Amino acid sequence: MKVVNGTIRELIEAWDGKAVVTRYDRESGAWIFIAIHSDFLGIPVGGSRMMVYPSPEDGLKDALRLAGGMTRKWASIDVPFGGGKAVLALSRPLGEEGRDGLLLRYARLLNSLHGSFATGEDIGTTPRDMTLLARETEWVYGRNLETGEVVDPGPFTALGVMAGVRAALRHLEGNDELKGRSILVQGVGDVGGPFARFAAEAGAQVLVSDLDGARARGVADGIGARLVPPEDVYSTPCDVYAPCAVGATLNRKTIPRLGCRIVAGSANNQLEESEDAERLFEREILYAPDYVVNAGGAVAFGVLAQRETSEERVREKVARLGPILTSIFDEAKERRESPLHAAERRIARVLEGMRA
Ligand code: NAD
Repeated sequence: MKVVNGTIRELIEAWDGKAVVTRYDRESGAWIFIAIHSDFLGIPVGGSRMMVYPSPEDGLKDALRLAGGMTRKWASIDVPFGGGKAVLALSRPLGEEGRDGLLLRYARLLNSLHGSFATGEDIGTTPRDMTLLARETEWVYGRNLETGEVVDPGPFTALGVMAGVRAALRHLEGNDELKGRSILVQGVGDVGGPFARFAAEAGAQVLVSDLDGARARGVADGIGARLVPPEDVYSTPCDVYAPCAVGATLNRKTIPRLGCRIVAGSANNQLEESEDAERLFEREILYAPDYVVNAGGAVAFGVLAQRETSEERVREKVARLGPILTSIFDEAKERRESPLHAAERRIARVLEGMRA
């Protein structure tokens, strides 16, 4: 494994977070990094990512960066958690037995922290993995308290995107009626699938696109949506473009081609670079900052962690992303700037308030 941009020690010393728990798991050859960025809003909470990395340092860098992102995410949506993230950095893919063994040892590591960090699913981990962890440790969030099963965050994230789309329409049009509005959903997986369905049920004219043609057709047939080939997504006229697939789809090449008035979707890191927020603003396309509009699953997990059992209450809390986005859009309009800047200021205010 090669060292990239500094040793583990150098990376940790240069970081602005609170602590990093580091464990080398000899049996699997994996490194476990639990990065605790901040705890001034509450217990640090973030997903557990399990992937093959070129080096342990790459895994650590991911954990440090993502943990800082979680501090900002929780602060932006009024959920009282701190920022944290775990990375299980594999040196090679593991078979089922090796994977389960690693997860078991990871669960024991979580127990040894006595609630200094709680976790959930992330890239490379599955609901099954979380259920396995939850048998060993209470520090897995997002469980249904009645069944003990780990809840799928996708539909809650989709509900949050619905709240975001409605907030954006209210901001631009004065009403959030979806009937007659066209919504193009790029990526119809765990989030985009339910989102496309919710939008169709609310009367929107839904267009769907996915690299997986069979999946796209399945969703389109189920809800009567129109199929859009992946290469035509950016130039297809629509009211709302909902990126629900991968990051960096908003960039200097795609933004000039966009035929929408609103961008609101679940994908993480939608902007290739921060200047893309300005490019959207100049084209008068309203951008719902991704880390706010895609926070429905995180909100739901936060509410479940507070021992809420009513699904109705969880949905109500997720719907509050709508008013949060409205206040971001309003502040941005007043200052004639991208909503991204208003969201950044909101985070800074919350964090400064807590530090004070
Ligand atoms: P998923 O893997 O279930 O679905 C993604 C879908 O996008 C797949 O069907 C895939 O074929 C398709 N896809 C990939 N690249 C594409 C492209 N270039 N064009 C069209 N389709 C493409 O993932 P998901 O859980 O639905 O998450 C979607 C996005 O939302 C990701 O960026 C994820 O990080 C983000 N997100 C998800 C959640 C959640 O609750 N699952 C929460 C917050 C953010």
